[in-house]
Amino acid sequence: MSNVTLPLSDSLADSLATGPAAAIASHTEALPTTAAPRRVFIESFGCQMNDYDVARMVEVLRKSGYERIEEAEQADLIVINTCSIREKAENKAASAAGRYRPLKEKNPSLIVALGGCLAQQEGDALLKKIPVADLTFGPDQIPQLPGHVATLLGQQSADPATWARPRTPLGKYRLRLAKTEVIDVEDYEFLDADPRPGDVSITALVTIQKGCDNYCAYCVVPNTRGREVSRPADQVVAEIKRFVDQGAREVTLIGQNVNAYHAIGMPDGDDFAELLARCDKVPGLRRLRFTTSHPHYFSRKVADAFRDLPTLCPWLHLPVQAGSSRVLAMMARDYKREDYLDKIAYIKSVCPDISLSTDIIVGYPGETEEDFQDTCSLLELVRYDSIYSFSYSRRPGTPATELEDTLPQEEKSRRLQIVQALQRTITNERMARMVGRTEPVLIEGLARMGNGQLCGRTGGNHTVNMDPPATGEASALIGQVVPVYITQARSHTLAGQLA
Ligand code: SAM
Ligand code: SF4
Repeated sequence: MSNVTLPLSDSLADSLATGPAAAIASHTEALPTTAAPRRVFIESFGCQMNDYDVARMVEVLRKSGYERIEEAEQADLIVINTCSIREKAENKAASAAGRYRPLKEKNPSLIVALGGCLAQQEGDALLKKIPVADLTFGPDQIPQLPGHVATLLGQQSADPATWARPRTPLGKYRLRLAKTEVIDVEDYEFLDADPRPGDVSITALVTIQKGCDNYCAYCVVPNTRGREVSRPADQVVAEIKRFVDQGAREVTLIGQNVNAYHAIGMPDGDDFAELLARCDKVPGLRRLRFTTSHPHYFSRKVADAFRDLPTLCPWLHLPVQAGSSRVLAMMARDYKREDYLDKIAYIKSVCPDISLSTDIIVGYPGETEEDFQDTCSLLELVRYDSIYSFSYSRRPGTPATELEDTLPQEEKSRRLQIVQALQRTITNERMARMVGRTEPVLIEGLARMGNGQLCGRTGGNHTVNMDPPATGEASALIGQVVPVYITQARSHTLAGQLA
């Protein structure tokens, strides 16, 4: 196991001032649970992995006497869960930290911790950039979070001046920690979800993988999340059962490249198809989804599962990134435009009404106008229900940084706008196809902005809002799959009536 626990140089001075034992204290030590509950506020950026990690942080902190609150002002501990996939995401974390600075000014014993991919990547460098932070910790450190916080609390100086000027002599009284140890593949153990009864929503995320071995040329994930590890199938199925027992009806299996899942050892090597079949059999589970698929690893057997498994929803997120084989090769994506289109044709042949979505990057180094037009024509051919589109963002430490970033930002923005306008038209057409149909909708709860309306999703992952039943309790429908007549398509949601 590699250990890159890095007290800052300032912190090293602290440890000399306060005793070296403080800096090397056992970080598994938890706070006493008999104390009045301490309050944690968490702000998270980024993908579903980060949402999943937040849920695990809440659980481990709860065991150490913390309760989660929704207002940062009342918090004893603030966690900012960062994302580093694009530069914009990084900036968001820095500005969030800036927003919490006045709270720390008022309350010097407040601990501000930065978790997630940016924290993992930058470690103590991030502490230097963000003076208000006391702790940076990577995703593998979540089980140790309460211990790290306890260490900091033991060492926190009562002098408010120390935190604001960590690099002045006064700073030597303030311990700050960077905990970015990555657990080796063979030692990695997935943290089982342990939600409280009543905390489980109708839809749940279940992780089946951590990390990624793919090294797409533009992507930081292999650096921030480490090598790919597949979670044992029994653990995945047991976790789904626990969620279902506590009221979940839909589960999304998550991982960076779920099709590369390999913890079963099937003779044909298609462990992911087998995992889907096992999950499908969990009693009480109504709906199963998965994300994210990598086209290179996406097999016919998995496509067939959309036809054969009753719980598997007709929705697939299959990120293409670019429509030009030349750009795909520069991205190290391991498939060509034609391979991708062949897979889409096969999926549509086994599940004709499937809703598809994708990720697109425009303005990749060396992308010509012709390459860009290939991306636009691919969108027209596939006709996704929705896309996530991004302008290429240069990420430190990725292979693409060696390519010359040829396009000015204005040109990247122009291409992004064209792609988004094109997709808006396609999305509108795809949404319009739903009007006049009666669709099975899983009711998830009350609509966010809808005077008592109910909200649910179709199998194709479209949000539907509808009036509650005229008689009886609307809440009785939550968690049920009910037929809904679709009356109207809006830009991103549908309106319907209980049928
Ligand atoms: N594992 C998934 C896959 O391979 O499709 C994607 C994971 S990533 C969190 C989500 C999306 O961010 C990617 O599909 C890609 O479109 C986008 N992305 C990743 N790195 C990027 C970069 N350097 N610049 C712009 N977009 C990026
Ligand atoms: Fe990043 Fe590629 Fe892995 Fe997705 S498959 S996480 S884009 S390296």
